[in-house]
Amino acid sequence: MVIASALLSPNSASTAVPHPHSGRDSRYWDAALETQSRESWERLKLASLKSHLQHAYLGSPYYRAAWYAAGVHPSQLKTLDDLRRFPFIDKKVVRDRQLAMPPFGDICAVPERDIVYISASSGSTGVPTASPFTQQDFDDWIDYEARQFWSSGLRPEDRYAHSLNFSLFVGGPCVLGAQKLGALSIHAGTLPSDRLLAIIQQFKATAIWTTPSYAWYLGETAIKQGIDPARDLSIRRIFVAGEPGGSIPETRNRIEALWGASVYDYYGLSDIFGSCAGMCEERNGLHWAEDHIHVEVIDPDSGEPVAEGERGELVLTTLKKSARPMIRFRTGDIVSFTSEPCACGRTSQRMLGVHGRLDDMLIIKGVNVFPSDVEAIARKDHALTGEYRLIVRRVDHLDQLTVQIERTAAEASADADAELAGRFSHQLKSIVGISASVEILPPDTLPRATHKAKRVDDQRQGVWG
Ligand SMILES: [Zn+2]
Repeated sequence: MVIASALLSPNSASTAVPHPHSGRDSRYWDAALETQSRESWERLKLASLKSHLQHAYLGSPYYRAAWYAAGVHPSQLKTLDDLRRFPFIDKKVVRDRQLAMPPFGDICAVPERDIVYISASSGSTGVPTASPFTQQDFDDWIDYEARQFWSSGLRPEDRYAHSLNFSLFVGGPCVLGAQKLGALSIHAGTLPSDRLLAIIQQFKATAIWTTPSYAWYLGETAIKQGIDPARDLSIRRIFVAGEPGGSIPETRNRIEALWGASVYDYYGLSDIFGSCAGMCEERNGLHWAEDHIHVEVIDPDSGEPVAEGERGELVLTTLKKSARPMIRFRTGDIVSFTSEPCACGRTSQRMLGVHGRLDDMLIIKGVNVFPSDVEAIARKDHALTGEYRLIVRRVDHLDQLTVQIERTAAEASADADAELAGRFSHQLKSIVGISASVEILPPDTLPRATHKAKRVDDQRQGVWG
């Protein structure tokens, strides 16, 4: 696979100076970019943002009209903070503009002949929205994927099984990043679990990318077939995305123990790129692709920035994606971030995980509850399988939360179950701040999620219409 690396490396045309990543011991894909000072990052971002806003203004009828209405113009951007004068955009606007001017909408800033790729996401309303890319956008994305894989320790010697959906899903082409890096790239997609396990065994795959739920499910499926993933399979790195689990330490620890592998959380968004942030080998937060996106974390109610370490809604602005610039896109994801230096030497800011989505957040008895907080508790206690379900009802105008969890023991006394429930309930109260009735179920009672897990049953809508 080293030969493939040499052929595919970005600077392969140049024979004089080897690219940093061409050496096996090199830590960085692009050392100058990844380790530059924060001041240098800010200068780079400001320069990119100025020309990107100009491109959006000239190319997109939507931005011209929206900014005129808001009384702003790209020439007014002198600092990165000035971006806060520009209006937000969200998924609903993207969908509405696409419906108004099909097929891609007037947020697009290039002629259709320049678009070479689209991904489509259906979203909760069922109307698919397309994310268009020019060839340059696509090439930039794949180069970033290669850099991200490299930062997570993937190397040309690896055999990588890409197990994300290929059908119109922006996660699909991310496999080309591993291929560009020089790893053997197995385009597995969403194969049935039995076949995927057989492929992993046959080709001795060393790395895989799935959702956290599926990584868990696949490991449990292997065990049911008499295969111990940690002992019998050669997977040593698991990339995960699509659910908060990859940044919940308790979930990561359980998947790592199951597979004898390291789990790296990635974050992506089809409206931007396949992935926009990922864990380095330190696995302490996800480094942003700050040459491609400018990040804001805001209070979802006031729109004002929150302090480092505090939770807020993630707002992303593209810096280069020319087909459809996204300026101040409200993602609906609740995150926190840090600018503290990372031990890996990379200087980009890190997201400390996605805590949940605004629309996943439950308000129960006035308390904000993210399913990911409950998940962390369920996965810490090794007397529990880690599966869980939240059921919310409204009885006599009062919210009632029931948490169903599974014990690992096939049989247990009523006393043992009561003790387990009491322990969980106490943790829930002290960490999340909410009281719940806790039901202990035998193992394998709750439905196993395959891809994106649905673990909340909020029955209150029926009560209030
Ligand atoms: Zn790092």
